[in-house]
Amino acid sequence: MKVLKFGGTSVGSAEKIKKIAEIIHSEQPVFVVLSAMGGTTDRLTEMVADAVEGRMTTALKSAGDLKKHYDLTVLQLLGKDAAVAMFYVDIIFNSINVKLKQLPLAKAEKEILSYGEKLSTFLFHQLLLKHGLHAVLLDATTLLPLDGDHEPVMNEIEKKLWIEFNRYPEMHVFITQGFVCRNVWGETDNLGRGGSDYSASLFGAAINTEEIQIWTDIDGVQNNDPRIVENTRPVRHLRFDEAAELAYFGAKILHPLTILPAQKAGIPVLLKNTMHPEDAGTRITASQKGRGFKAVAARDGIIAIRIKSSRMLLAYGFMRKVFEVFETYKTPIDMVTTSEIAVSITIDDGRHLKEIVSALRQFGKVEVEEKKTLVGVVGLIHADEPGYARQLFNALDDIPIRMISYGASRYNFSLLVNTEDKVRTLKALNSRLFHNELIENEEDNVMNMVAD
Ligand code: ASP
Ligand code: MG
Repeated sequence: MKVLKFGGTSVGSAEKIKKIAEIIHSEQPVFVVLSAMGGTTDRLTEMVADAVEGRMTTALKSAGDLKKHYDLTVLQLLGKDAAVAMFYVDIIFNSINVKLKQLPLAKAEKEILSYGEKLSTFLFHQLLLKHGLHAVLLDATTLLPLDGDHEPVMNEIEKKLWIEFNRYPEMHVFITQGFVCRNVWGETDNLGRGGSDYSASLFGAAINTEEIQIWTDIDGVQNNDPRIVENTRPVRHLRFDEAAELAYFGAKILHPLTILPAQKAGIPVLLKNTMHPEDAGTRITASQKGRGFKAVAARDGIIAIRIKSSRMLLAYGFMRKVFEVFETYKTPIDMVTTSEIAVSITIDDGRHLKEIVSALRQFGKVEVEEKKTLVGVVGLIHADEPGYARQLFNALDDIPIRMISYGASRYNFSLLVNTEDKVRTLKALNSRLFHNELIENEEDNVMNMVAD
């Protein structure tokens, strides 16, 4: 059984939801994970913020507007068979109205946020039933428990899924919500924004599926940011590590945590476009295909912290002490560069910046630079093949580079640049380095596809 996840844009309208139903028809047996319809989670989040900040009338009005939108979608989707779904939409929006008034209760907020996925899965289930396709709708709050550290409990997920499969032995289509889960206190919770991809990967790993398909509105991973650079092209194959790097760097493809469960279980992830199902998309597996630079992505909002200390010279234990400060404030470090008397560290979570900086001052002089962008270039960039660094530096000839990291893996160069230079950087990489490499890669990809 394959796991197919459809994102918010794929379930963005009645017409698109029908398209998914066609895809499901040809892929059975299948486990379907859905996001909320595009924009819904954003609107629910705004409503919650309005209610918490005392703008209850605005919050209730937004809920009313959103309900109208759903009423219309239900009619477009189900026509004369819309009654059950209409009733469900009523129940959900009544509940939203009640829960908005219970805010700022965290429990009420999380329930409200889960309604986007509850709605999309319910409507989709109704559509399949209308077309005579038997399908079971499962409630993700019973399938995906988290532990006290907010981490998914894999063996529980596995157990719960098998209970359901055994309960419906004749069934070929299972549907559930992405993003939604249950926390250690038994409450409805979520995996964070964009978390439906992660849900799909967790479910896929739990049932040891043959393939996890993530359906979006682009033809797979692009080699550069299509919002900034023209003529981007899809990358046909990525290794798990390359995809994880790109996802972290902000390529709008996948929730960054998605790769890990699939990688651990050795399950290929296929990224596809709902509007062009015939397009090959991008396949992410454990094997390496193609050489050289494959893709680039950039992440804004990065903070660079430099600690200068002569005490670092020939000392041991210095790094541990520095890193411990970040651990104390639960702030992940992204990139590190060192010299004998200084260390530079980047973070993207500045919530505890003040405390971190004052704690670091005990070790030496601390400088902070904000408004930086981390640019990740991925591909198979072998240290024993000369020339990659030269190509990169040539391409970025006139762009100031604040930090650079290479050699941690064979798969990426990371560069820190000023955010004001981001567009220039991405364009320069595309035209001066990337374009030629891509043609080579594509040939490789073609050969590899034949070899598959
Ligand atoms: N609906 C959630 C969001 O918009 C989860 C997802 O789409 O992956 O963040
Ligand atoms: Mg998404």
